[in-house]
Amino acid sequence: MQLQSMYQEIILDHYRNPHGRGLREPFEAEVHHVNPTCGDEVTLRVHLDGDTLADVSYEGMGCSISQASVSAMYELVIGRSVPEALETGEHFMTLMQSKGDASVAEKLEDELEDAIAFAGVSKYPARIKCALMSWMALKDASARALAATPASATQPTTAAPVTHPTTAAPVTHPTTPTGGDRA
Ligand code: ZN
Repeated sequence: MQLQSMYQEIILDHYRNPHGRGLREPFEAEVHHVNPTCGDEVTLRVHLDGDTLADVSYEGMGCSISQASVSAMYELVIGRSVPEALETGEHFMTLMQSKGDASVAEKLEDELEDAIAFAGVSKYPARIKCALMSWMALKDASARALAATPASATQPTTAAPVTHPTTAAPVTHPTTPTGGDRA
């Protein structure tokens, strides 16, 4: 099978059978992104556990590229930390800017898994935004979710020792008069 048709298959597969689709609870942030040039839309929610993407849920409508991209992204980022997911997003961005350069796709193949199937999209400037919309939404939602959960953003070393009430006050032994000397 030719690479292009294999990529096409992967995209259509995600489009017809989107992974992780649906809006779920709980979530710390929800964003709605649109790609007006094509009419694509996505509503995306992020649920964090610390800085780990415990869930990324979404609903969307639009062209096959935009909707398949969310599904492929879901598979890539779920269970990973926000910084890791954003780094993968940067690599996807690099792929989208590759203008169809196969050597770029080759280098990113392992990291991007199914999302590598969008390599061909990089040759069509009008479609790049379709593929990037989901990643923009994720970046936005992750930032909001982190901001909404300040405690988990940076675990401050509030390891201020639980001040043990100094009950260690020596149990003052009442000088029990040892009966003996009592005259
Ligand atoms: Zn589109």
